[in-house]
Amino acid sequence: MADNPFENQLQQLEKAQKIAQIDKNIYEVLKTPQRVTEVSFPIEMDNGETRTFDGFRVLHSDVRGPGKGGIRFHQNVSIEEVKALAAWMTWKTAVVGIPMGGAKGGVVFNPKEISQHELELISRGFIREIAEFVGVDKDVPAPDVYTTPQVMAWMLDEFEKLKDRKEPGMITGKPIEIGGSQGRGTATAKGGVFTVLEAVKHVGIKPKGATVAIQGYGNAGHNMAILLHELGFKIIAASDSKGGIYSKAGFDPEKVFEHKQKTKSVSGFAGTEPITNEALLELECDILVPAALENQITAENAGNVKAKIIAELANGPTTPEADEILNKNKVFIIPDILCNAGGVTVSYFEWIQNRTGDYWTEDVVFERLEKRMITAFDDVFSICKEKTCNMRTAAFVLAMQRVSKAIELRSCHR
Ligand code: NAD
Repeated sequence: MADNPFENQLQQLEKAQKIAQIDKNIYEVLKTPQRVTEVSFPIEMDNGETRTFDGFRVLHSDVRGPGKGGIRFHQNVSIEEVKALAAWMTWKTAVVGIPMGGAKGGVVFNPKEISQHELELISRGFIREIAEFVGVDKDVPAPDVYTTPQVMAWMLDEFEKLKDRKEPGMITGKPIEIGGSQGRGTATAKGGVFTVLEAVKHVGIKPKGATVAIQGYGNAGHNMAILLHELGFKIIAASDSKGGIYSKAGFDPEKVFEHKQKTKSVSGFAGTEPITNEALLELECDILVPAALENQITAENAGNVKAKIIAELANGPTTPEADEILNKNKVFIIPDILCNAGGVTVSYFEWIQNRTGDYWTEDVVFERLEKRMITAFDDVFSICKEKTCNMRTAAFVLAMQRVSKAIELRSCHR
């Protein structure tokens, strides 16, 4: 079923298993999350009425280290989505070789329909409910769609009050003033840029003037636009949940961001034409960057994708059926578990800094990030060549090998 992200994740795993040939008892462990937590909690809304909120925290695997993964606030959050996102975190931390596992969380509501005060109450309420399952050595949350450093700050504060001790490493993506890392805000995009710079070499595209379309203009998408633009790429289209913009001549992504901050959307930016999210995905361009939600490139539109490279900043933007079509059409996909791993890598750096109390400069953070992203890209690309498979399958093979080795060493499949 193409719209169930967890099923999609299992299909990706199964495809890679044909090459990875993991022991069948260990493979059985890889398919299932270790723990699924569902909570409901009441909040007194600004109008005095009580409303209950549903949330989830899934620990997919902690065999390589504590769980790691963001918390999403969105009206369409479902348990199947959170399970998929948690599993992708397991594969992602393994691809970049950081000693952490995979987890994810989500709360079901539309953050655009509540006040700042209510947002704080929901953030505090959710972390209270899952407090026994998270912690610096257990499972470490971070931001994801519609959660911010401020939300992380509330969650940390609530957690520390509850435990009556300081534990800044229990959550990452915090504001710098309370233990956040330099560079975390732009880390996902920065990591994505390092992988794009490797991919263009293999595909034979020159960065200067290469055209880019970006779906989703949030933390990941808008920073990617700005960083690529600084390197000479031409950003010709961008979109968000309210609509999109297109300009053949390209636009300044920093100015578009300022416009979005003022008007809440990229739409209507001077000198651009409107474009729908659907049309943006099918645009004539060199690089397409899905940076919004899952299941955007499907069997219906994959055949119309004209980009030579797809850089998956979003998690799960391409369905397995779409993957088949894109592979046939020789589109070079930088899979999500590699392309957007910069975020979790710098979250890991933040966790190290919190534990040691030794805080790094932004230069050190980005230097270490670059090394890890390029090594991960090369590791995946080598498997791709050696096994004659695509980049996604190669990334899964690498991750499955690393996770299954940890399972074998711990004998936790018996
Ligand atoms: P965000 O909340 O900062 O931004 C989300 C953006 O997507 C917004 O611009 C929103 O308007 C847009 N959007 C929402 N629905 C859309 C739709 N239907 N069509 C087009 N645009 C739509 O979130 P983010 O942190 O940038 O996350 C975006 C993606 O990147 C998610 O898949 C997330 O899991 C992934 N990701 C984020 C990080 C991170 O560190 N923030 C790390 C790894 C992966």
